[in-house]
Amino acid sequence: MSKRRIFVTSALPYANGAIHLGHLVEYIQTDIWVRFQRMQGHEVHYCCADDTHGTAIMLRAEQAGITPEALIARVLKEHQRDFAGFHIEFDNYYTTHSEETRKLSEAFYRKLKAARLMEVRPVEQLFDPLKQMFLPDRFIKGDCPKCGAKDQYGDSCEECGATYSPTDLKNPYSVVSGAKPVRKSSDHHFFKLSDRKCREFLEKWTQENEHLQREAKNKIREWFDQGLNDWDISRDAPYFGFEIPDAPGKYFYVWLDAPIGYFGSFRNLADRKKVDYDAYTRDGAKTEMIHFIGKDILYFHALFWPAMLKFSGHRTPSHLYVHGFLTVDGEKMSKSRGTFITAGSYLEQGLDPEWLRYYYAAKLGPTMEDIDLSLDDFVARVNSDLVGKYVNIVSRCAAILTKQFGGKLSSEVFARDNTSRPYTMIAYGSENVIRESLDAREYGKAIREIMRVCDLINQRIDRDRPWDLAKDASKCDYLHDMVSDCINAFRIITYYLAPVLPKTADNVAALLSLDTPLRWADLPKAIDRISPYKHLMTRIEPRRMRALIDANKETLQPAPQSHSPQRHAHHEEHAVETVAANTITIDDFNKVDLRIARIVNAEPVEGADKLLRLTLDLGGETKTMLAGIKPAYDPEKLKGRLTVVVANIAPRKMKFGVSEGMVLAASGEGPGFYLLSPDSGAQPGMRVK
Ligand SMILES: [Zn+2]
Repeated sequence: MSKRRIFVTSALPYANGAIHLGHLVEYIQTDIWVRFQRMQGHEVHYCCADDTHGTAIMLRAEQAGITPEALIARVLKEHQRDFAGFHIEFDNYYTTHSEETRKLSEAFYRKLKAARLMEVRPVEQLFDPLKQMFLPDRFIKGDCPKCGAKDQYGDSCEECGATYSPTDLKNPYSVVSGAKPVRKSSDHHFFKLSDRKCREFLEKWTQENEHLQREAKNKIREWFDQGLNDWDISRDAPYFGFEIPDAPGKYFYVWLDAPIGYFGSFRNLADRKKVDYDAYTRDGAKTEMIHFIGKDILYFHALFWPAMLKFSGHRTPSHLYVHGFLTVDGEKMSKSRGTFITAGSYLEQGLDPEWLRYYYAAKLGPTMEDIDLSLDDFVARVNSDLVGKYVNIVSRCAAILTKQFGGKLSSEVFARDNTSRPYTMIAYGSENVIRESLDAREYGKAIREIMRVCDLINQRIDRDRPWDLAKDASKCDYLHDMVSDCINAFRIITYYLAPVLPKTADNVAALLSLDTPLRWADLPKAIDRISPYKHLMTRIEPRRMRALIDANKETLQPAPQSHSPQRHAHHEEHAVETVAANTITIDDFNKVDLRIARIVNAEPVEGADKLLRLTLDLGGETKTMLAGIKPAYDPEKLKGRLTVVVANIAPRKMKFGVSEGMVLAASGEGPGFYLLSPDSGAQPGMRVK
């Protein structure tokens, strides 16, 4: 086996909010793969960084009364803490606001300009005359040009789904100052993606090789069919970013320097650790460069980035490994439901990060399909697989070995093909399929195979009944071989799980005195004794998951204003505002418009297990709301009854439609939801206060 040399990245999280469980799908996926490759003896450099530039960061810092530099420094610390908490082991976690990335951005720009792929053109955009700045689409709101809905963003309508340009909005206003924007022209720098040499290169690069999954290729085919547009890579001051060298007052758009940030982070590592930077980045490099990304940023990584690399004299990526999104209990993560779970809150609740690593691994495959975190399944699977199957093997045999044989294993060799060692043979029997599955990012398949092995071993222990053998002195040698064999099988399985459960693997390594770091090549190495067994992993109590959801439920504060020019997951603006005290003022309470409403109609929502679509009469006004009460109520029986709703919550676009308010229901530790009802005499539309 020849040694692979691989430069690996995960997408750069935006320095404008907390890491959440949606982000972690990607970092955990990458980290498992990197750890696995290291165990194989390959050389891997895993780099990432915070993505720190753009209007959103600039305004957020201004709002907080600090400099953007101070804001990104604070967020960097939080991100590093969260990643470490989930055992994500980067070789370098850096920032795009670095000298390395600045120099590289300038160098890329100069090369692309020399290749005649840059062009300056005037662009007319909406400008905030009060704030003296051009407004990105998400910073302009107004009435939808199609359906007239109020307060819609500059790029699309959440009511009717129309997409349009911000200059089409009726009655537009600036989200930053409230002023009416004016049209204003300014010069912008474009990267000519539509240039024939770019297009020809990209058609070949994306379609004719194995850089991309088939689903990704199909998606890109659609983009080619629609035609490639030139890419506006400049923004006018004021902007937080890098100024374009020969264009004062013009800045590189955040998306230009973000992927260059992969190289910036690697440059920084290479300089510190004496790694050959050029061997991984120059044109024709014999090493591998692999980007793990979410499907939402495929366009940037499969079109802009390879073209930028190609025409600036760099190597292009060996692979893009693209994954889907995370849903929680089948639905988009939601702050009001408490399923928008931050990494920090998960760790603060004292939950084991390896539970999540294991669950994600069990769900992940090599495709772009979304994965679902089902909270009940999460509890059930961690308890039954990790505690009930894997740890169960060692906890059943270690005590006997320690008590009866002083912790010493029987001396016979535990070779792969020793038929008198059935447990070891079972564990070795699946090595190839597990190794190949982990390498191919088929983690779900690997986990299924590992658990199948654990099942076989546990069944065999049930048959051998070591606890009975221990009572019979004549079976002493047999028992010694049996528990030794069993412990050896457990050791082998631990190697298989080590990329997923690095902390547990370390604890097992201490228990069995294994050489660390664990290397696949050490699988045949026999061990001769074990230390006294210590508890390896605890079960999850379901109430702890409910506490986690409660800790993430949105407070009664208005939702933080959207501040992101990009809409994809890594740049989502979901800043987590923590509430200092547990009390609210009467003014806070008065912001909530609670109303009596009559349920006029209730019907199931196709495709949703838990949702009912309710049509509510609020005393003349009719609203539609989606409520997760289907398991508890027959829709027919709801029709006509009165209940209490939050009437002024901003409409939320959910997977199954728009919900124009919130129906109030009680719930407790056990299952079940209980809708509120007013006393008789209350009428639809009455205010609750
Ligand atoms: Zn509309």
